[in-house]
Amino acid sequence: MNTPVPNPRIRRSVASLEAYVPGEQPKVKGLIKLNTNENPYPPSPRVAEALRDVVAADLRLYPDPTCLALRTRLGELHGVDPAQIFVGNGSDEVLRLATRAFTQEHGQAAMFDPSYSLYPVLCAAEEVRMAKVPLADDFSWRNPLPELPPDTSLFFLTNPNAPTGVLYPRPAIEAFAAAFPGTLLIDEAYADFTDTPSDYAAFAAAAPNVLDCHTFSKSWSLAGLRCGYAIGSPDLVGALYQLKDSYNLDRVAQTLALAALSDVDWMRANAARIRTTRTRVAAELLRRGFAVTPSQSNFLFVRPPAPATAAGLFARLREKNILVRHFPASPRTAPFLRVSIGTDEQMDLFLQALAED
Ligand code: PMP
Repeated sequence: MNTPVPNPRIRRSVASLEAYVPGEQPKVKGLIKLNTNENPYPPSPRVAEALRDVVAADLRLYPDPTCLALRTRLGELHGVDPAQIFVGNGSDEVLRLATRAFTQEHGQAAMFDPSYSLYPVLCAAEEVRMAKVPLADDFSWRNPLPELPPDTSLFFLTNPNAPTGVLYPRPAIEAFAAAFPGTLLIDEAYADFTDTPSDYAAFAAAAPNVLDCHTFSKSWSLAGLRCGYAIGSPDLVGALYQLKDSYNLDRVAQTLALAALSDVDWMRANAARIRTTRTRVAAELLRRGFAVTPSQSNFLFVRPPAPATAAGLFARLREKNILVRHFPASPRTAPFLRVSIGTDEQMDLFLQALAED
């Protein structure tokens, strides 16, 4: 077989990149979508109101490049100075900019394994090496100070972790931040779903080397809006500003994110509902012999009892129009399915489909 000749017009690191594969978004009617950790409940009605009030004529004007109104409100929410907040086009943009800003040319980053599979792609795009620190068999983190290559300048820590849902102990994270000479990025995409509140914003704001990332995509029910943000020292946040597109968050997104923030109770009530459903579904799966990783997130990471396999169940559920996530590429994740928590009705249909044939 001939090896394909790479197109010399394309940068080698880009041509050889194994791009991140996002969960599918099929347009099938009646599909129960439990594959991308979206919120099954709509955003606050204030978002719909604000959308109705959008003045199309205003779109001829550029948006506020620094998202000041949004940062002011986020500063109140987290009790931090708005000058220490950076808003991005989804937290994926924040992660991409952070990867560039906090690594050196041909440098080194690290993460736990398994964790969010976008991080290695972001590093590969920057020609940065990625070290993967294996988590314990139960996906907990035992050694607070993982052994890292000496030139590691950025560590991605997802808390609660994805795709496992495990929440790490605060003392371990604080000890790691204190001992690690590089930048510790705490990705709190799912932090609003923990049983007791978890927020590293104030910690990051006070530390020289911690960046705390959040998103509107999960608890705020706004994955389609593309808005995320990070909190950190003025230096770290300043570096993200240096790199960003001038107008990275459009006018409509800024307005609607602000409307969502005016109704924190709505978000918290939905997160509480999701927690209750999570507890119920986890108990039922355990009863049926599944291994259920303790989740503090809006998804469950579960291993079916033999002879069932994750791949087999994934395919069977798909035939029944129920979409969950399977990560077959790594031996750590292949035996598991990640199931986003939907409404109670959706989860009942999921449980019913699992019990059939
Ligand atoms: N971090 C983690 C751990 C995630 O799972 C996701 C969602 N795939 C993101 C960040 C990205 O979220 P956003 O929609 O804000 O880009």
